[in-house]
Amino acid sequence: MSDSDTLTKTGLVALTGVNKHFGDLHVLKDINLSIAKGEVIVVIGPSGSGKSTLCRAINRLEPIDSGTITLDGQPLPSEGRALARLRADVGMVFQSFNLFAHKTILQNVTLGPCKVRKADTKQAEQRAMELLERVGVANQASKYPAQLSGGQQQRVAIARALAMDPKVILFDEPTSALDPEMIKEVLDVMIDLAKQGMTMVVVTHEMGFARTAANRVVFMADGEIVEEATPETFFTNPTSRRAQDFLGKIL
Ligand code: ADP
Ligand code: MG
Repeated sequence: MSDSDTLTKTGLVALTGVNKHFGDLHVLKDINLSIAKGEVIVVIGPSGSGKSTLCRAINRLEPIDSGTITLDGQPLPSEGRALARLRADVGMVFQSFNLFAHKTILQNVTLGPCKVRKADTKQAEQRAMELLERVGVANQASKYPAQLSGGQQQRVAIARALAMDPKVILFDEPTSALDPEMIKEVLDVMIDLAKQGMTMVVVTHEMGFARTAANRVVFMADGEIVEEATPETFFTNPTSRRAQDFLGKIL
């Protein structure tokens, strides 16, 4: 079997029997999930169901208690340079943007490539400008994060993730902290990325995004994957009681 066959079978990201506890709290319960290259997965579920922990486990911000997580068929490294490389391969966009406040927008995007990928400064800057252009904030390059709107900051955070050429990008409620008028500008960038074949795991309550961009919806409750379906099937015909209740509340 070639590498690509293996990946089609096991997924670019594959979680098998993953369990995680915080003390007595069982937050991830025997999670099995395989994400194919180019696939866009939307993860939804009530607050506290383990969605953020799932994302954090995939780039090893949270260690797991049992089970395996692989990227490109390789188990996640637990430390050292291999872990730094993993973090570079798994982009993460948070609800709270998390830009470096004392760096310019341009520096925010070049920092990772220069430090971790050892990119040449001039080339990193050129690439960063292209990415800032792509997310529509190139004209803000010399400003500091606090001078930008939330929507602009989040688009910079996406450009920053892209600058590392990640294999997959995890988005944890990327629009939840934004004023309503800024949500669309961020979702539009994400829809664009999805169309261009980026592998994405997106935790969001934006059902419009799920319908437009997701290949698969994963519904979590109480640390379990309760249901997995295409958006079409999930929204019109959820099979579990918990998904029906949840959709009843948010739709
Ligand atoms: P979601 O993102 O779906 O809202 P989380 O993954 O953030 O859920 O949290 C799942 C559960 O784990 C919640 O009950 C939360 O309070 C708990 N939890 C999350 N992080 C920690 C932590 N670092 N220590 C203890 N409990 C935590
Ligand atoms: Mg969360």
